[in-house]
Amino acid sequence: MSILSGHARVAGIAGWPVTYSRSPRLHGFWLQRHGIDGVYVPLPIRPGEFATAVRGLLAAGFAGANVTIPHKLAAFEICDSVDASAHRAGAVNTLIFGEGRISGSNTDGYGFIANLRANGVDPSTGPALVLGAGGSARAVAAALQDAGVAVTVANRTRAHAEQLGNDLPGLHVIEWESREAALADHALVVNATPLGMVGHEPLDLDLSRGSASLVVADNVYVPLETPLLRAARARGLRSVEGLGMLLHQAVPGFRAWFGVEPSVDDELRRFVAADLLMQ
Ligand code: NAP
Repeated sequence: MSILSGHARVAGIAGWPVTYSRSPRLHGFWLQRHGIDGVYVPLPIRPGEFATAVRGLLAAGFAGANVTIPHKLAAFEICDSVDASAHRAGAVNTLIFGEGRISGSNTDGYGFIANLRANGVDPSTGPALVLGAGGSARAVAAALQDAGVAVTVANRTRAHAEQLGNDLPGLHVIEWESREAALADHALVVNATPLGMVGHEPLDLDLSRGSASLVVADNVYVPLETPLLRAARARGLRSVEGLGMLLHQAVPGFRAWFGVEPSVDDELRRFVAADLLMQ
């Protein structure tokens, strides 16, 4: 870490637990690369203490913070203003402090779309099938809709998908059991469940039901290559890994707090991936 001055900008990530977060490593890389007088720290904040802690950060002159589990809804509540991305996602993952006020946004959808584009995928190529109806599914579905894409959602608990459909008009909901048959009608499939993550079962999805141009994206990034992505590569399908989404979603916060537009490139990916491989 570089030596700080009294002018140093300070940001961090609020979560509980926060020890698993790669965000300090990611932002630390950019701070060092750009020689910025600033620091990004883990902020272990217990459930129930979020509002007190965030008011404290604001009073202490922080530039802002990222927010992760379990505080994303509490973060929405505490903001003086939230942008359209936060409204659409129903949660806030990025807080920006300024003149005693807290502004909130949700950069997961931005990160998902930016990652597709960085992988040469035009999100508006055709309809998308999103598997899951939790936090990341909501952000991804909203961002795809905003990009003009028709979105179908399949979720284990249909009622959760219906709820998402109420919040995002135009969303098409199908049964979880119909996900495989639906592949043929979609240009992109996104795994927004934890299936395939270390400690979880793989996602059960036979990709042979999709077309040869199907793009397969996985939000899971531990492991970097999930069984779904491996199956996609084995079939010669274009695949998009979840780590890129994590890297891209961090860009807007860094820019707001530290005043520099950071880039997502191979060097950054290798640096963050090295930490994941040590798991
Ligand atoms: P979440 O809000 O807890 O939602 C989980 C979703 O997965 C729910 O729709 C749930 O269905 C479904 N699900 C859970 N277990 C299942 C199972 N055994 N079978 C079928 N469906 C199941 O989680 P999230 O925050 O969206 O995260 C999902 C994954 O994305 C996690 O692995 C997370 O690490 C990853 N993620 C990655 C990024 C990134 O930047 N790459 C960002 C956010 C999240 P029910 O409604 O039936 O419970």
